[in-house]
Amino acid sequence: AKRRGSNTFQWFSPDLDLDTQQQITLRAQLQEAIQTHQFEVFYQPIVSRNGAVVAVEALLRWNHPERGYVSPADFIPLAERTGQIVAMGHWVLEQACKDAARLREAGIAQVSVNFSPMQFYRDDFIESVAKLVAKYKIQPNQLMAEITENVLLRDSASALKMMADLRDLGLEIALDDFGTGFASLSYLNVIPAQKLKIDRCFVQNIESNTRNAAITRGVLTMAAELGISAVAEGVETEAERDYLTRYACDYMQGYLFCRPQPINKLLAWLDHK
Ligand code: C2E
Ligand code: CA
Ligand code: CA
Ligand code: CA
Repeated sequence: AKRRGSNTFQWFSPDLDLDTQQQITLRAQLQEAIQTHQFEVFYQPIVSRNGAVVAVEALLRWNHPERGYVSPADFIPLAERTGQIVAMGHWVLEQACKDAARLREAGIAQVSVNFSPMQFYRDDFIESVAKLVAKYKIQPNQLMAEITENVLLRDSASALKMMADLRDLGLEIALDDFGTGFASLSYLNVIPAQKLKIDRCFVQNIESNTRNAAITRGVLTMAAELGISAVAEGVETEAERDYLTRYACDYMQGYLFCRPQPINKLLAWLDHK
């Protein structure tokens, strides 16, 4: 990112090349955002093969007073390093629990929430999830925890224990961004996942990109044989949808169906569908 003054910066790049001063500024702004409620949760539909909206994914949005909506890609990497993601992640989960009843009334059985690896390394993690489930009286299987294989990088034994505890609590687990990280396929044998999300990079132009098509078909076959359902992410075109339908992909998510929206807009969209 380029500097524009002592305490502002542009948002066009991820945090990777922010200098120290910029990181300190962003960190302080995130703290303020947490305290002054600048965060919102948007929901994006996940559709089944017959087009029904069966689930939504909760996605964090930072509605900055001057910059407007800031993409999570621009602040989550830093929030993960500073640990601020723990408070942010808890807040997103609480919103999702609050909204779960309204979503259920609208026929949406499940809400997916992204869990950062950082959250898994807190001793009170499971307890904090259990408290929210109890507080909002939701059925635990209404919640789907989206995790990436990065969760195994630091302390895989304790992360796996947390996942087993989440399953015992009744939550479901989805492997997010499947195939983009550094873990070996053996983690499929240890993570108790019900869903696998095929990253957008493999879905793009799948009807004409033969390499993407080969990878995605392979993943679909593997998931089916392992008894894990597959979600294709980032479906933007009818050609992509048709190809994925042809190869029996269970679920799809992407701008073709609907962009992430605030809950009221999402419910209005569902009404007019
Ligand atoms: P993700 O979990 O892979 O979420 C999917 C991202 O793809 C979202 O970006 C969504 O808006 C975007 N997307 C959906 N359909 C399409 C499409 O058809 N085309 C394109 N180009 N993009 C599409 P978003 O909301 O900007 O989030 C980016 C990432 O930030 C997420 O990737 C996730 O890793 C992270 N994130 C978002 N919310 C949270 C959160 O509450 N907690 C944590 N730990 N991470 C979050
Ligand atoms: Ca996700
Ligand atoms: Ca993803
Ligand atoms: Ca992603």
